[in-house]
Amino acid sequence: MAYQYDDQNIFAKILRGEIPNDTVLETEHSLAFRDIQPQAPVHILVIPRGPYVCFDHFAQEASDAEITDYVRAVGEVCKMNGLETDGFRLIANAGHDGVQEVPHLHVHILAGRMLGRMLA
Ligand code: IMP
Repeated sequence: MAYQYDDQNIFAKILRGEIPNDTVLETEHSLAFRDIQPQAPVHILVIPRGPYVCFDHFAQEASDAEITDYVRAVGEVCKMNGLETDGFRLIANAGHDGVQEVPHLHVHILAGRMLGRMLA
C-alpha cells in the first residue's frame, strides 16, 4: 500500500509556519518542538521536514541525507537536554493500531521522570 500524505495535518501546518510551536532544534531536514500536552517533564517531538506519514514510509522513501539528519537531530535533542545521565524513551506511533494521532512522522522523546515498564 502506498502512503498518502495529508498536507493539512497539524505538523504540516507547523512546518509551513501556520501554527506556532515551541521550537527546540531546527536542522536542514528536521524540526524538534515541545509537545503541547507533555506526558513527562521532557516531552519533545522530532519530525522530518519532508512529507512522510510514519517511520516505514520515511525509511522507504527518504534520502540518506534526510535520514542521517533526522537521526542526528534526535541525538542532538537528547544531548541538549542532558538525557544521557538518567535516560529517556523514544516512541514512534504508526497507523491505526499504533494509535497515531498526527499523520506526519514524529518521534516522541520522553524523559525527566521514571517512565515505568511499557510494552503496550
Ligand atoms: P501521536 O499520538 O503519536 O500521533 O502523538 C501526537 C502528539 O502530538 C500528541 O502527543 C499531541 O499532544 C501532540 N500535538 C498535537 N498538536 C500539537 C501542536 O500543535 N504542538 C505540539 N504538539 C502537538
